[in-house]
Amino acid sequence: MLEIKDLHKRYQMGDVTVNALKGVNLTIEQGDFVAIMGPSGSGKSTLMHILGLLDAPTEGSYKVKGHEVSQMSEDELAVFRRDVIGFIFQQFNLLPRMDASENVALPLLYSEKRLDLEKSQSLLEKVGLGTRSHHRPSELSGGQQQRVAIARALVNNPLMILADEPTGNLDSQSEKEIIGILHDLNDQGITIVIVTHEEEVGQQAKRLIRMRDGVVQSDERRLPFKQNALEKQAAESKLSQIPLANVVQHFAQGIKTLAANKVRTALSVLGILIGVAAVVAMLAIGAGAQAAMQKELSSLGSNLLILRPGATRSSSGVRSDAGATSKLAQEDAADLKNNIANINNVVSTVNGRGQITFENKNWSTQILGTNPGYATMHASVPQAGRFFTDDENLSRSRVAVIGMTLVRELFDGKSPIGNMIKINKINFQVIGVLPTKGANGFRDQDDIVIVPLNAAMYRLLGKENVDTIEIEVSGPQFTSTAQDQILQRINTRRRVPEAQQEDAYQVRNMAEIQDALSSSTKIMSLLLSAIASISLVVGGIGIMNIMLVSVTERTREIGLRKAVGATRGDILIQFLVESIVVSMLGGVCGLALAWIVTTGLTYYANWPAQISLSSVVLSIVFSSGVGMIFGIYPARKASLLHPIEALRYD
Ligand code: ADP
Repeated sequence: MLEIKDLHKRYQMGDVTVNALKGVNLTIEQGDFVAIMGPSGSGKSTLMHILGLLDAPTEGSYKVKGHEVSQMSEDELAVFRRDVIGFIFQQFNLLPRMDASENVALPLLYSEKRLDLEKSQSLLEKVGLGTRSHHRPSELSGGQQQRVAIARALVNNPLMILADEPTGNLDSQSEKEIIGILHDLNDQGITIVIVTHEEEVGQQAKRLIRMRDGVVQSDERRLPFKQNALEKQAAESKLSQIPLANVVQHFAQGIKTLAANKVRTALSVLGILIGVAAVVAMLAIGAGAQAAMQKELSSLGSNLLILRPGATRSSSGVRSDAGATSKLAQEDAADLKNNIANINNVVSTVNGRGQITFENKNWSTQILGTNPGYATMHASVPQAGRFFTDDENLSRSRVAVIGMTLVRELFDGKSPIGNMIKINKINFQVIGVLPTKGANGFRDQDDIVIVPLNAAMYRLLGKENVDTIEIEVSGPQFTSTAQDQILQRINTRRRVPEAQQEDAYQVRNMAEIQDALSSSTKIMSLLLSAIASISLVVGGIGIMNIMLVSVTERTREIGLRKAVGATRGDILIQFLVESIVVSMLGGVCGLALAWIVTTGLTYYANWPAQISLSSVVLSIVFSSGVGMIFGIYPARKASLLHPIEALRYD
């Protein structure tokens, strides 16, 4: 069954080479009960680890059931460890977070891809621990823990049990029980190889091998043994597939581990959560802004043209220092109205900011001065009160129409009509309240006071010129001709030199303005989400960090899992699943937070935000991707650990 020829094992410790095994020859038949004894340092454990496929020899041949071990792949070795050999350690090596029955069932996770707790219960009964199946290792005595470990070694019906000083940490009563169990198992046909210090234990074995200085010193047959034909094939075929059941099991295990480290898990989740929430909220605000803007602009219709001065340039295309910025005046508006065909209405506007005071309240807002025609052109006919008239404009009357934000901030939502407010310290009477428009992108459209153009120019803002002239044409079919005519008219009227005509004035229609605005909001929101996604990467690095700590902390656990038959793939999946669960959890919580934030913004600050389905999908995919990418390195690191080195790790 086991055949060893001229086996050597050397350990390199710095400059010193330790020859632990120096040419061991040994054959062990199926059904035998072999004890290996010898002084400390004689190479017994080293030999056992090689026999158990936990360690590889430096030189020589080792065959298990006719298979040359040095020619087996990592995964084939894992299958042999899982299906053929049961290993019992001096330190029991039970997983502390699992109860007895889960510990026993652990190897089944890698063979049957599920924790069959019924099977482990029946094995626990077999070793006399039927009533302790739900106790954790810390709640069991040493002898009981070793019996759990024996049950674990038996769970895959091995052909052979290797026990490395199984009673080394036990009292004599427990020792008797454990040795008794091993003898029973041998009676059932299982091959037993045991390393022991106890002469008495050695004497009970059917064959006693003594080692000294890395070689077999004596080999004594003490009792006859029953050769048997216990047969078992290592099920290599089970390996290649990763069935769904396997992933589900790893998922359940991953969640359990994460739940056992709540604070750590919560902190890693937090990293991803903030990233996802930021990205989703930014995209939502951007999308909302764009939608609101489009709605507003389209409500203005496609008949509106806006004329504004542009900076004049020299013929070389460089801004000229002569500084002749083109100007617009009310007379230009009148001229256009009288000379361009197919236009309904023309208004001029000036813009500025000002401090509004009512009683003891202050508010800084946008001041818009315009003609009365503005109200119909911009769907701004007051919902309460009225707009000012042409007469009031001409007489520079101090009357104002205010937006809802001002009503809320200065008048606590009460009707402001008839009250006197101060705009930049000048008294104005409120005569109307504008209809609510909500936010447009990052700007609150209700945060505005509209006053007559002349009052704004000469009383409030001290402007000689108007900022824009808005022209409403009678139908969309006239926009393009009107655009050309307006430009020509204003250039001629203002005697703009030919070379500068291209830049001196601009006439834009709504579609162009809409395009310009929405592309700038788009860029803005993409930029913000790009910045936000940096925090996702930071969150990913956080996960990687935690996973690396976790790999280091659980090195012994990884060693044990490998010793009971986990392949590299199993360990890789186990750790990957953990990091993906963390980051997906972060993704889902982040979405929830983004929803809360955007709903709050919409409700309290009137920012229209829209969480789109695509950003939801994107954030989930992205966050699990982050978990995957940043989990791969730690998971790979764990999967590459050598079983015996991992088990020795402190
Ligand atoms: P035993 O089990 O008989 O006490 P071991 O097999 O543990 O002996 O050790 C045999 C020799 O190999 C000892 O000299 C020991 O110091 C050395 N040795 C065992 N493991 C290692 C290791 N991982 N690195 C270096 N030397 C080791």
